[in-house]
Amino acid sequence: MRIGVLALQGAFAEHIFVLKKLGIETVELRKKSNLDMSLDGLVLPGGESTTQGKLLRELGMYDTIKEWIQKGIPVFATCAGMILLAEDISNDERSYFRTLPVTVKRNAYGRQLGSFRCMEDFKGIGKIPMTFIRAPYIEDVGKDVEVMAEVDGNIVAVRYGKQLALSFHPELDDSRLIYEYFIEEIVNVNR
Ligand code: GLN
Repeated sequence: MRIGVLALQGAFAEHIFVLKKLGIETVELRKKSNLDMSLDGLVLPGGESTTQGKLLRELGMYDTIKEWIQKGIPVFATCAGMILLAEDISNDERSYFRTLPVTVKRNAYGRQLGSFRCMEDFKGIGKIPMTFIRAPYIEDVGKDVEVMAEVDGNIVAVRYGKQLALSFHPELDDSRLIYEYFIEEIVNVNR
């Protein structure tokens, strides 16, 4: 199994660290030529969605990755990665891949004081730690989008087919349960 991690900006090294611990081969996707290979899954890390979106286009990576997602590659997106997938962003006129039928709000908890940690239920897993850093949340979901977690009545995790998107940062916590869920329930069922 080989998982590609978008490595343009943000918390990609942390995801690679966890995946390696789980014995999974990873590839950093930094430039267009890195996309000439077959991958079993894709990680879109947190960071700054505007910077990542700009670089994806400037480096000529946008079209290929969008096509992969449309064709059903398993995707694990966190925070800024969730924004890249969202069909709509309620407080920004930009949008990126638009493969996930949800409306997200960027920096939904406020710009500066928006970082916090909690323990909440994740569907099919149970209580897990969740670390939020200037996070988005989901305001509205389209048809067939499964809500996986909510915090204070706001949706913070969804699954839509093979796309799993989280507002928080599992790569910063010790729990590996969400990674295992992604690998077992989304990647492995595909192969
Ligand atoms: N605030 C960032 C954005 O809008 C997301 C924050 C994160 O990925 N931790 O892209």
